[in-house]
This record gives sequence, C-alpha cells and structure tokens, in this order.
Amino acid sequence: ELLGFKPRSVFSDLTSQFSLTGSQMEEIATHFFMEMRRGLQGIESSIRMLPSYVTEIPTSREKGVYYALDLGGTNFRVSRFTFDGMGSASITDERKYTVPDSKMTGTAEELFDFLAECVASLDTSADDASTGGRFYGFTFSFPTQQTAIDRGTLISWTKGFNTTGVVDHDVVELLRDAFKRRGFEGDITALVNDTVGTLISAAYTDPRTHIGVILGTGTNAAYREKVENILKLPKEIRDRGGEMIINTEWGNFGSNGKMLPSTDVDREIDDNSRNKGQQLLEKMISGMYLGEMVRLCLVRMYDSGEIWSEPGVEVKADLRKPNSFLSRYLSDIEYDMSEQLHIVHRVEKTFGVEGSTLEDRIKLKEICGMIIQRAANLTACAIAACIRQIGSQDSDLVVGIDGSVFEHHPSFRQRLSAGLGELAVQCNVILAKDGSGQGAALISHGALIAR
Ligand code: ADP
Repeated sequence: ELLGFKPRSVFSDLTSQFSLTGSQMEEIATHFFMEMRRGLQGIESSIRMLPSYVTEIPTSREKGVYYALDLGGTNFRVSRFTFDGMGSASITDERKYTVPDSKMTGTAEELFDFLAECVASLDTSADDASTGGRFYGFTFSFPTQQTAIDRGTLISWTKGFNTTGVVDHDVVELLRDAFKRRGFEGDITALVNDTVGTLISAAYTDPRTHIGVILGTGTNAAYREKVENILKLPKEIRDRGGEMIINTEWGNFGSNGKMLPSTDVDREIDDNSRNKGQQLLEKMISGMYLGEMVRLCLVRMYDSGEIWSEPGVEVKADLRKPNSFLSRYLSDIEYDMSEQLHIVHRVEKTFGVEGSTLEDRIKLKEICGMIIQRAANLTACAIAACIRQIGSQDSDLVVGIDGSVFEHHPSFRQRLSAGLGELAVQCNVILAKDGSGQGAALISHGALIAR
C-alpha cells in the first residue's frame, strides 16, 4: 500500500503480497545463510542445525540385510533391505502399522512396547547371517538432539504425539529397553532423521548428492557440512575433520524475527495452528498448509464480491470450513489446460461451488499458481543458502527431494529451478522417492562398520 493508495482489489492486493521480487529472495537467502551460521555456532537461531553424527556417505559396496524402523507420524513402518554390494538395493519385507491414538498419548513404555511388537512380526527366517545379527536404523522424524549416531533425546513432540516420558529421554535407549522386555535379538545401530535418510539414499544412487529435502506434510532438509564448521561440536570431534550431515530443521526459519515477508493470510494460518509462532517457513511451503492458504484467499475474494459473485453461482458452506480445500486440489487445478477449465470446475464442485463462470475459474487457477510460486521461491531461497554454505560452485551438485508437494505438483520443479536461477544457483534437482528408510538401513550399516 504505497502512500496510502487503496489497492484496486483484494485479488490484486493478494497477488502483490504473495509475490517475491528477486531482491526480496536475495534478502531471504542471506538471512537464511546467517541463521545457518548461527545455528552451527550454537547461538540463538530459528534453525536448529542439529548434528546427525553421520560422517560417511555410502560407497555402494554395502552388502547384506539391514532394517529400517520408521516412526514419522501416525504410521510405523518396518522394512528389511537387502544390499547386493554392487550399488543395488531391494526391499525384501515391509510392514506398515497405524500407531493407535492411545499409544500417541500414553506412556513411553506403552508406545515403545507397541513398536517392539511390530518389529517382532517381521519375517525372521531371513538371511541375516551375512551381517552376523540384526541391525536396525531407527528413523525418528521429530526434533532430536543427538550426541552420537545411536544416541539422541527428543527435544519436543510434534504431529499430534504427546506420549509421556519421552521428551528429554534417549529414544534409542527406550526402544532397546522395549526389545529387552520382549527378549528380542538385534540392535539399533543408528538414529536417523528422515531428511538425513533421504540424503544418504540419494547419495547411494548418486554420490554428488549434497542436500536432501522433504516437501510433504512438513518441510525440512539435511546437507553435508565440513566438521570444522560445526563450531558447537566439542573440539575433539572437530579436530577429526571430514564431513558430517546436519539436520537443519529449516521449517522453523524466520520464527524469531522479520526475515520472512508474511501476509495476513499467513498470520491467520499461524493463529489457527497448534504451534503458533513456530515453523513459519513450513507454514508457507508444506502440504499441510497450501490448501488452507488458497481457501483463506478465496474467502477474502468471495467476501469482497470478486469471485463467484455472478447470479446463479451457488457457494455452499465448505468455503468457511478450515482445511476443506485440500493441498492436492492445487495440483489438480494446475494440470487443467482445457479451454473451459472443466477440471477446475470439478474441483469447485467437490468444494461446494456450483455454476462458476470461466472468469471465476481463471482467478482460482491464478490464486493456486501464486501460492505454489511463493512456496517454490522460498524453497529456492533455502536451498540457495545451503549451497552457499557448502561453498560449491559445481553445477553437478545434486539436491534430492522427497514428498508429495514436489512429486505431484506439476509445476513445482520448474518453478523451483526458475527460483534457483534467479538466485544464480546451479544444481541438479532430482526426485528422491521414499529414500528415508533405505537411507536409515544404509546408515545402520555404516555405523556398524565404524564401531
Ligand atoms: P509425509 O510428508 O506425511 O510423509 P507426503 O510426502 O505424501 O507424506 O505429503 C503429504 C502432504 O502432501 C499432505 O499434506 C497432502 O495434502 C500433500 N499432497 C498430497 N498430494 C498432493 C498433491 N498432488 N499436490 C500437492 N500436495 C499434495
């Protein structure tokens, strides 16, 4: 709002608020870079920059049977991977269990006994002989302060978990105790964040991979850092040199100041969230919020008579219902290249809007484009900062990305590349699908070798 001029319309106001100029992007990337440096030094920063204690990337000569246990949300996944020693891996057993609500809010013992019981159900007749036992990589996708590859305490629960006796406790120890109670063989050799697993698994396929990103329900990333730069690590570890993967916890970027240009839609999303004031970058990028952002824009436009206002258009109550506009609708809408935008029309119907005009549909499509554009631009800023921190000029550097927002949204990849171009960053962005389990299994192998 320059010099008190009223914006022409809610729509044009939204489009200008949501768009980021090249210089704004540059500024965000610079702030991000500085927050990374602060996090590495251990001084107050919105990005935690958690050391993973993973210091090697796979050689592709890994051989044998290794397991991955993955607790990332409401599902617990148990997988067995077989590595052939020549760079090829296959899943030889996999089970998925829904964590019952009662275990998410009960005691640590109840939750970890449940996990151990799931692990016990895996096929035990497997050829474990090659590795001399059963070894597990435990993917635990909650912020965890690690002090070793197989030691880490939960900082705080997220994603609806509220189990008592886990925060500030070593989650590997809790799982080992549950194994013992069952009289169960096998050891957990590595505790792994899902971004770290994604990075390792992508590096198994392509050793030029330096960054692993998740763009799903939430967003986060891990990258390869020089140990000497991780100033908050004890000197005896830093003196060893080499590399260590850092779990950035980048979803929280900007939660401590004015580093992210935010709109009143962003403020409404944050106000209505369970973690107000936290994960502000995540709230602009990830699948959990994209649909709701579109809905809040539509409410504003509808209330000012700028969409679905022609006689004969019927708008049902869903427009006012939080989270009724799903993030996958953004993809469906963007895929629609038809002249009359009939897929957009179909989404509108699902959403409770009947008889829209072509102009309404065009506006809806533009709103979706605007929101995905900002998400891609912000992702580009974050990746650019990581690449600057890595200090690589190499256009061969690979960024592996997993998650539905990246995988399924038709234009995300292209918008992200354009954003990276705007920031003069060169890299290869690839899809690293479902890598976190395989990565955890590989790390359990690597950790084993290093013992
Ligand atoms: P998770 O991150 O939970 O492991 P996903 O990577 O599948 O799982 O991400 C799920 C999130 O992605 C949900 O918030 C969902 O709304 C969103 N999502 C699913 N499909 C699409 C799509 N086609 N386009 C954009 N977002 C999507």
